[in-house]
Amino acid sequence: MWIRFVYQPIIALYYGLYLHILGKEMLKADRSVWEMRRIWLIGFLLLPFSLLLGGWLGFNHARDQALQQADERLNLYASSFEGAINRYEYLPWLLAQTPDVRRLLDEPSSALVNRVNHFLLQTRNTSMSDELFLMNANGDALVSSNFQSAETFVGNNYQFRPYFSDAIRSGKGEFFAIGATTGLPGYFMSERVTSWQGDEAGVAVVKVDLEPLQADWQLAGEKVFVSDTNQIILLSSDPEWKYRYLAPLSDQQLDDLKRNRQFDGIELSPLGASSRADTLHMPSINGETARYLNRSVELSRPGWQLHYLVAVEPLYQFALLSAAVVFILYILALTAVLWMRERSRRALAAVKAEQRLRALNDTLEDQVLERTSELQKRTVELERIQRELVQSEKLAALGVMAAGLSHELNQPLTAVRTYAASGKKLLIKGATDQADSVFDKIMTLTSRMNDITAQLKVFVRQAPTPQLSSDWPARINFVLEMLDHRIQQQQVTLRLEIPEKARVKADDARIEQILVNLITNALDAITEQPNATLGIYLQPSHDGWCLRVEDNGLGFDTETMKHLFEPFYSTKKVGQGMGLGLFICYGLVQDLGGTIRALNNSTGGAVFEVWLPSDEKAD
Ligand code: ADP
Repeated sequence: MWIRFVYQPIIALYYGLYLHILGKEMLKADRSVWEMRRIWLIGFLLLPFSLLLGGWLGFNHARDQALQQADERLNLYASSFEGAINRYEYLPWLLAQTPDVRRLLDEPSSALVNRVNHFLLQTRNTSMSDELFLMNANGDALVSSNFQSAETFVGNNYQFRPYFSDAIRSGKGEFFAIGATTGLPGYFMSERVTSWQGDEAGVAVVKVDLEPLQADWQLAGEKVFVSDTNQIILLSSDPEWKYRYLAPLSDQQLDDLKRNRQFDGIELSPLGASSRADTLHMPSINGETARYLNRSVELSRPGWQLHYLVAVEPLYQFALLSAAVVFILYILALTAVLWMRERSRRALAAVKAEQRLRALNDTLEDQVLERTSELQKRTVELERIQRELVQSEKLAALGVMAAGLSHELNQPLTAVRTYAASGKKLLIKGATDQADSVFDKIMTLTSRMNDITAQLKVFVRQAPTPQLSSDWPARINFVLEMLDHRIQQQQVTLRLEIPEKARVKADDARIEQILVNLITNALDAITEQPNATLGIYLQPSHDGWCLRVEDNGLGFDTETMKHLFEPFYSTKKVGQGMGLGLFICYGLVQDLGGTIRALNNSTGGAVFEVWLPSDEKAD
């Protein structure tokens, strides 16, 4: 059945969804999934009830509609049925009044018989009734509209028919019967006729053909039938159902039927069954039984009923269809609920996330503020500590310097005092020549002391102003020229890589002092070195310039490396080095905002690197 194609996929879908939710979704422990699963489960529990309700409502609706339609059709068919009979009701009476008909009962002469036969034929044709005939008091048909037909009623006796006996007895009769002569069914209506002279009696009959009514019912494709007082179907839209009884017949009924030969030549058989008063199970095509709702109306003929059957199966189909529609709507509604729930959940989650983020942001801001103020406090503290450190370093340096100075100056000063005393004695003695040489020694010693103080002069100069700008290559060339005599003397090979222009933020005097110290130290280091080489390289580096002074001397040992930039540290012989050169260089480079460092060259020898910030405006 087609309906299977509707409900089977639905059941499959339903089952699939169920497995999906209970199986896969259960694996997830997320709270929202649990919530979704709960909605789905409630939805699934309620679904059968919704389907039942939908089906029940659908069935009731379809049944009410069908019954309403059935009642309308019943009324229509009943009135057309009544009309089909009533329009011929007057005919027997009319025949009973006709003088020729009445005379015929007194004296059935052949001329009169012939005339009445033709009259009946004409009346039949005009009224469009089935047949008209007249019987005498014995029930013999004297004349008939079908007198010309082979199956004419004329000469036959119909005394056994109730419409004859009823008419004789009460004046009128009517009866449905299968024609005893023709075998054609019809509705017979009769009227007692009194002969012209009043001695004889007869019965005038009209036979009405009701078969065309069935054709109308068949055309409409409806299940309609008429049952009589014995519950035997007389007319039916389904030919198979005709002349079959709906309720078992009693012996009395069977006897009556036999006597009045109502269904002459037809074997009556039972039809259908009814489980309830309003339901009928009737045979349908292929030997199957179909269930119908039975609507009926009483007809004016005694005991007759017109039935209209409503097939139940389409109602069930409609119910199933309604259930399917309910299912789809249900799933859609469930999905909509879930979707809305999910949407609000997400919106809520977004709001919560935003709140969390805002709270986090506030906390972060608080923390940043807290840390910033802490950092500021620490910076202030650090600056204070740094200042104190610088101060103590300065004091320490001053202490070291003072000690060095007193050490350095003490010896020449003692010597000067000694020489001055001996000079004084020599002058008193008059030994001027000897005194002269003593004074020469004093002068040499004081000039040495002058050298020491001269070195320190540059160091104690004021820090350069930031506007100063010096041409570093020009300064290098100047210092090399100054030291050219010594370089030549020592036969030093010079390696120079100096750009044409490299301006740095420095003053010429400081730059020259640094260069003199570094180059002099290098020359000192390579005095006794064969293939003495001095390399001077100037390269751009990190917004500044880096000077590299290399020699191929012995480099630094670990001890020297440790104390290199300390004042009065020297490894040179007394009189050759005062240990102030690098100390001063360090101080000058610091003043200029640069850096200085010493390292051993990988190929041997010492390397000094001095970086100074470039003067961009000048470049
Ligand atoms: P001075 O030259 O008067 O000794 P400096 O401060 O200029 O004082 O140098 C300190 C010491 O550093 C030197 O005595 C020397 O031992 C070491 N020194 C400096 N320059 C070099 C160099 N180019 N090679 C090896 N040693 C060096």
